Amino acid sequence: MQVTLLHHTPLNICSNAIRTCWQSFDKSDNGGEKDRELIDRVGNKFKHASTLEHLNYNFYIKGISRALLQELARHRIASLSVKSTRYTLKELKETELIESGDLEGAGRFVKLTGNEAVDKASVAALINLQAILKSGVSNDIAKYCLPESYLTELTWSINARSLQNFISLRSDKSALWEIRELAKMLYSVLPEDHKYIFEGSIK
Ligand SMILES: Cc1cc2nc3c(=O)[nH]c(=O)nc-3n(C[C@H](O)[C@H](O)[C@H](O)COP(=O)(O)OP(=O)(O)OC[C@H]3O[C@@H](n4cnc5c(N)ncnc54)[C@H](O)[C@@H]3O)c2cc1C
Repeated sequence: MQVTLLHHTPLNICSNAIRTCWQSFDKSDNGGEKDRELIDRVGNKFKHASTLEHLNYNFYIKGISRALLQELARHRIASLSVKSTRYTLKELKETELIESGDLEGAGRFVKLTGNEAVDKASVAALINLQAILKSGVSNDIAKYCLPESYLTELTWSINARSLQNFISLRSDKSALWEIRELAKMLYSVLPEDHKYIFEGSIK
């Protein structure tokens, strides 16, 4: 799995939004220590959390399973643009035949778990799918036998309030191991001066 932060809103946009309420713009230090403390006090401690919605983060997430994608999509307060299955199936169709022992080749298309029996079953499903595609079945029909482990990628955009909720729910040990890994990676690629906003959310 790879996670890249493509873009983020500077902190002073959020502190400025907070300062709008009391017109205290002259007290700003342009995203410095005073503004950072204000964001934490108002957004986190006073729970005037809608102010955190002014901070937006755009991520590129690569190499996650469709099992994880399904869980990620449950987070409604976020935007997703996902690589089309039609496109990924075209890639699989055009790839040389994958063999049952070829975990490296299969790992380009499916998420391997390290469990031998599960990975064997995933690779078998992939080989079946590839054979179906190569026999000329259209992508829109063949996609119905995609394994949950099939890899995908997406652009994911989310505001700080919703990201706190995501990190809190999905870094918890009760969450699926793969989404837990994602939550931790999302936190790790945040700008250093933003991380404190999420410190109370990460488990
Ligand atoms: C450990 C774990 C196990 C889970 N197991 C299951 C399962 O078995 N089956 C299943 O279906 N789902 C399951 N889920 C998914 C879960 O129910 C949520 O759909 C998912 O975590 C998204 O959370 P959310 O609604 O807080 O996030 P978002 O959809 O991003 O919403 C963010 C916040 O906005 C508010 N909000 C959004 N929409 C509404 C609304 N319509 N009405 C009121 N407030 C709203 C809420 O405050 C919400 O917390 C599981 C989640 C976890 C973490």
